[in-house]
Amino acid sequence: MKGKVYLVGGGPGDPELLTVKATKILGRANIVLHDALVSREVLALIASTSERIDVGKRAGRKLLTQDEINALLVSYAQSQAVVVRLKGGDPVIFGRVGEEISALREAGVEFEIVPGITAGIAAAAAAGISLTDRRFASQVLFTTMQRDTPNRAIQWAGISSTTTLVIYMPGPDYGYAAEQLRDAGWPLDMPCAIISNASGPNQAIRSTHLKDLPAETTLAAPAVIVVGRVSTQTAEQISHDFGYGIVTSNPPLKPLVI
Ligand code: SAH
Repeated sequence: MKGKVYLVGGGPGDPELLTVKATKILGRANIVLHDALVSREVLALIASTSERIDVGKRAGRKLLTQDEINALLVSYAQSQAVVVRLKGGDPVIFGRVGEEISALREAGVEFEIVPGITAGIAAAAAAGISLTDRRFASQVLFTTMQRDTPNRAIQWAGISSTTTLVIYMPGPDYGYAAEQLRDAGWPLDMPCAIISNASGPNQAIRSTHLKDLPAETTLAAPAVIVVGRVSTQTAEQISHDFGYGIVTSNPPLKPLVI
């Protein structure tokens, strides 16, 4: 009997932000291949009888190549009924699920995508940001400024500053993102929020502006940067809204707004 592969979004970290469907599938999984980004609390929901394989990246070193992961999914689907590919956030946002879907289609393996809350959405919730607040923004762009993809580099000058940017994988050097936007004519007073470990116990938020972004201390990965007029909340406001402590120390205490 051939099995089915579930491409499941593990959400941003808080297990309560997992969908009911994802929770049920984890509970009846025969084998789970998961990324490093999936939280320990979410991994705890995997059936105790299930086999688990960590296929994630650690400090830039991949445990398995994407081709190896694709091949494993196809091969496990020949012997196991419920094969789960568990990813951080949502599987269709910067998750390389496209390559997995292609491999599964090619091999004639049945699959289903189970959405999750993507980091950018969890980050906006954590900082009280309305990504498309109609007073300031008319659209939102989930993007990344990874430097290893120059052929896909975005023409920032063509993106109006009524767009809210959610920058995934900002890397440790915020100066690069700031430079791209500044060179494209984005105003230096544009508010930015850096949100690290959204929804998790180590969540940290920093409110700043484009001109100060390059000098900001790097927050712990994983983090996203929300750039736009919608990010105007001050540290005091965020703290007041959500009861976070405000700390200016480095390394920071938690949970907090800096
Ligand atoms: N599929 C994932 C994204 C994978 S790319 C999703 O939908 O969220 C990995 C990047 O996601 C990280 O570099 C970081 O930018 C972001 N990220 C993932 N989890 C995060 C979290 N809890 N808080 C902030 N950013 C996070």
